[in-house]
Amino acid sequence: MRRYPAYRRLAEPPGLSVPQEASSSPAAELERCLALAAPAGSAHADVALSAARQARALALALGRDTEAGRAGVWACAHLLRLGRYEELLQEAAVGRPLVARAGLEAELRELLRLLSLAGSEAGNFEVALKAAQELVALSAEAGDDAALTAALALAVCYERMGDSWQAMRLLEEALRDHGQAGAEAPESVLLPLLMASNGLCATALGIAHRLLDLDDAAELQAVLGLARLAGERASELLARMPDPVYRVAVMGNLGEVLMYQGDLAAAAPLVQGAYEHARRLGLRAYAWRIQATLGALQVAQGEALAALHSMRELVAEMGTQAPPQTLVRTHHVAYRACSALGRCDDALGHFEAAERIERRRTMAQLRAQSTLFVTRTEAQRAQWQAEQARREAQEQRERAAAAAEHAERDPLTGLGNRRHLQTRCAELLRAARRQQRPLALALLDLDRFKDVNDTHGHAVGDAVLVALAQLLRESMRTDDVLVRHGGEEFVLVLPGLATEAAVEVCERLRERVAAFPWQRDCGTSVPVTASLGLATAPAYELETLLARADEALYRAKSAGRNRVLLAPA
Ligand code: GH3
Ligand code: MG
Ligand code: MG
Repeated sequence: MRRYPAYRRLAEPPGLSVPQEASSSPAAELERCLALAAPAGSAHADVALSAARQARALALALGRDTEAGRAGVWACAHLLRLGRYEELLQEAAVGRPLVARAGLEAELRELLRLLSLAGSEAGNFEVALKAAQELVALSAEAGDDAALTAALALAVCYERMGDSWQAMRLLEEALRDHGQAGAEAPESVLLPLLMASNGLCATALGIAHRLLDLDDAAELQAVLGLARLAGERASELLARMPDPVYRVAVMGNLGEVLMYQGDLAAAAPLVQGAYEHARRLGLRAYAWRIQATLGALQVAQGEALAALHSMRELVAEMGTQAPPQTLVRTHHVAYRACSALGRCDDALGHFEAAERIERRRTMAQLRAQSTLFVTRTEAQRAQWQAEQARREAQEQRERAAAAAEHAERDPLTGLGNRRHLQTRCAELLRAARRQQRPLALALLDLDRFKDVNDTHGHAVGDAVLVALAQLLRESMRTDDVLVRHGGEEFVLVLPGLATEAAVEVCERLRERVAAFPWQRDCGTSVPVTASLGLATAPAYELETLLARADEALYRAKSAGRNRVLLAPA
């Protein structure tokens, strides 16, 4: 990086940074940083964050908007992992215009998701809820994966605002509506499904925490059962869709559930493993949370003194950065450890500390609930609006399809028109050229059709055109193309037919037109016959084939009509 000092505008975090490479071009450097910064990778979060920021600066300098937008979103993802929520909120504000400028829809949704999660964690519920609701609206047109992701973002808002039950309902509904059974779920839904299942597990665990000291064993066990099902589902999905970060989250949550269910032997390796991975990947906020769980496990295993030391170290390490809910849990574990050790004064101190933070948190939640009106009806309205948007989008798609269809149809005969010929013929000609296969194009024009109109009127003329279209349609194979090219002129495209076979087909058509009971079916005494001009490929271009067929048709008319003539090769 030394060669491009101008790109180093953004400060690097202390400690880890991107390994430097002495002599590479900015473009190669960008690729290297992007590879390091990819959220699915396993670089340490500090390194990945630094790489993402460098990638963004490089991409901006190179005018590569897409990469710049994407790298900005990745930087936010790493900030979330590091638990640097306030920084994320600022960075997202900078990153959003980049994403918008590059027109990156999926990245915009990811940015909103991160914004909503960080807002929820930082207690900035207004930002969080706004982002989540925007995400819900955007996801209406974007499929099951987006719907699941949006539901999760909204659920996290509710959960952090103190309404865990609402969050749980939302996630259960989303998983029911958008989460097919794991084995059949398509690739694109796997990660959102994993995230939503893990989210449900975490939400149920949150409820379990509140029930722990309340002597309602039945309800506690029911909630834990639900958490376990969701955690196990997430764990199965993880096997199909390995992701280092979610591995930590899922192992940590599932381990905690098992611990509360009393299966310490099964819980210990999961929690320990999750803790080690979290530290290795630099997932600071996860590591803190899981360390509190490890402490609870130690208390349950009779190692209260070790647990107490660990919790005190944790409080010191977290300092002012401590997420409130983790801090509450840490003090709570310390309180239990002290109680087990018979240190009543210390126990009371930790209990009071936990109580104070919890009360402050509840106050903030109540205030947020009252200002933001997060009630059941609000949630229902958001869902209803999303449903409405989804329905409108669907109708819009159907209308657009109908309009496109309409634009290619001739209303009188129901056949395709010139535009249809252009689109369909382009494919057929491309395939024929690629495979060096023959293809024939015929122009069919009714003879002295004006006489029919002049003698019997336009209605009879129209009836003749409709009957002719039907007759031609019945004579075609499925891959042939038949269009009304104008007035009383039709184009037939016959893929796979070489000259001789094509002449035979056209001759048979001419005979069928001449032999048709026009008088009986359409009421015309004027005889109806057709002339055809035929051209065959090579010359795999529509315009050339049409011009040659037209020239042959002209000669057929001059030669006396009711005949087929072939354009010279
Ligand atoms: P030719 O053998 O040289 O092709 O003679 P023609 O009379 O068929 O050709 P001309 O181009 O002189 O006239 C075509 C007629 O087709 C004129 C027009 O009234 C009639 N026509 C075109 N479109 C329609 C339609 O949609 N309905 C009806 N009833 N007549 C149509
Ligand atoms: Mg004609
Ligand atoms: Mg004509």
